[in-house]
Amino acid sequence: MNELRDSLQGDVLVEGDPEYERARLCFNLLIDRRPAVIARCVDADDVAAALAFGQSNGLEIAVRGGGHNPAGHCAVDDGLVIDLTKMRSVEVDPGAKVARSGGGATWLDFDQTTQAHGLVTPGGGIGHLTAQFGLTCDNLLGATVVTPVEGIIRTEDSGHQELLWGLRGGGGNFGVATELRMRLHPLERVVGGRLEYEGEGVAGALRAFRDAGATAGTDLSIQAQVSVKDDLTLNLVVVPCYTGDGEEVAELADLRSADGLVNDKVRPQGFLDQQVVFNPGYGVDRNYWKGHFVRELPDELIDVLVASMSALGRPPGAILIESLHGTPKDIDPSTAALGYRDAAFNVSVMADWLDSALDDESSAWARETAAAIEPWSFGGGYANYMQADEPLERVRAAYGPASFDRLRALKTRYDPDNVLHRNQNIPPAD
Ligand SMILES: Cc1cc2nc3c(=O)[nH]c(=O)nc-3n(C[C@H](O)[C@H](O)[C@H](O)COP(=O)(O)OP(=O)(O)OC[C@H]3O[C@@H](n4cnc5c(N)ncnc54)[C@H](O)[C@@H]3O)c2cc1C
Repeated sequence: MNELRDSLQGDVLVEGDPEYERARLCFNLLIDRRPAVIARCVDADDVAAALAFGQSNGLEIAVRGGGHNPAGHCAVDDGLVIDLTKMRSVEVDPGAKVARSGGGATWLDFDQTTQAHGLVTPGGGIGHLTAQFGLTCDNLLGATVVTPVEGIIRTEDSGHQELLWGLRGGGGNFGVATELRMRLHPLERVVGGRLEYEGEGVAGALRAFRDAGATAGTDLSIQAQVSVKDDLTLNLVVVPCYTGDGEEVAELADLRSADGLVNDKVRPQGFLDQQVVFNPGYGVDRNYWKGHFVRELPDELIDVLVASMSALGRPPGAILIESLHGTPKDIDPSTAALGYRDAAFNVSVMADWLDSALDDESSAWARETAAAIEPWSFGGGYANYMQADEPLERVRAAYGPASFDRLRALKTRYDPDNVLHRNQNIPPAD
């Protein structure tokens, strides 16, 4: 530990330190791990030193960004956590419309800084500006990455262009990203917020949501979340985000007149307000998520989703449906390591509960509901929402076989010993 402390500018936390318990906490309380050591790095040199320390001492290594991955990959029992929570600075070059973001910055850090300049990068991966500006990774221009084999590199450096392609979707498999350079777009305000429905009208409103996604252009992103209330009536929240001219959104007309509407809170607002329309607390409840990209959202599938939601028989828990229309379809697919650009929607079953006695039952509900969606599956699930128990085949399907083989070649080059395996893992070649 003294050797590690001496080699870092940042601090090192071990069991018993006052900040250790908070620093080991994941968003998902289902994951409860006690690392041997948490290295809170402040720059790329710190990350390189921590990575080398972990490798030479044979420690299992986890990398912590925002801690929000439902799989809890940011923590590891008895191992080393390379913690990036002190690397959250975001710098904006308004002229070039580029942001330079520390590897541990959260969307709140990022959006607050960029919005002060009237600029934005679409957050998510899939988020409130996906139809307008594509997926987050479509806006990744370059990165500084600390790799297990080649040390600190920049994707702009000669010979590393393929790494940029891999980082656009392949996550933390190749190295620890200490700086991400993102393309910015002008954005002053959105017409957004939520439309809320209850009871019998929910299935009809979901059909209107689907049709809005099908007809919307590149100035309207839209998502929907189904859940049940305490009295077990169905609840639907539809979240549009419109960036076109004026305040009227023609594509929302049918949604606004659909049966069961109990609340219409769609209005002009700042993008920071839009980003917190859904805003669950950190480290509050237990989560198990499973889903599918789907080709279409026919009435039959809507009925399956509504029936499955009712079958849960208690709140919390939800099914999230994100529309993938618009710009993701217009971008040259060869620029990023993604296999789902042509899917119509991302449908995610999100079991969410407080009592550990419900662990098996809640996880089973998510798995069974996802299985019921599978006949419409486009292939694979969304890596950002995957739990740690997903089989390799699902990870492969998320990229498609050709991209997956290309990612494996990258992994073999930058991390042949799979030092960075606490992620939706792409194994190196045998
Ligand atoms: C409440 C909530 C809402 C969400 N909403 C959305 C949404 O709207 N759209 C969407 O697409 N996703 C969403 N997600 C999913 C989220 O984007 C992913 O789970 C993402 O991986 C979280 O990143 P993180 O850095 O916070 O997580 P972490 O758990 O810290 O890290 C996730 C993975 O990335 C690795 N990692 C993190 N930072 C780095 C880095 N700098 N370099 C290398 N590897 C790194 C970690 O090792 C780990 O494997 C949501 C998740 C939650 C919990």
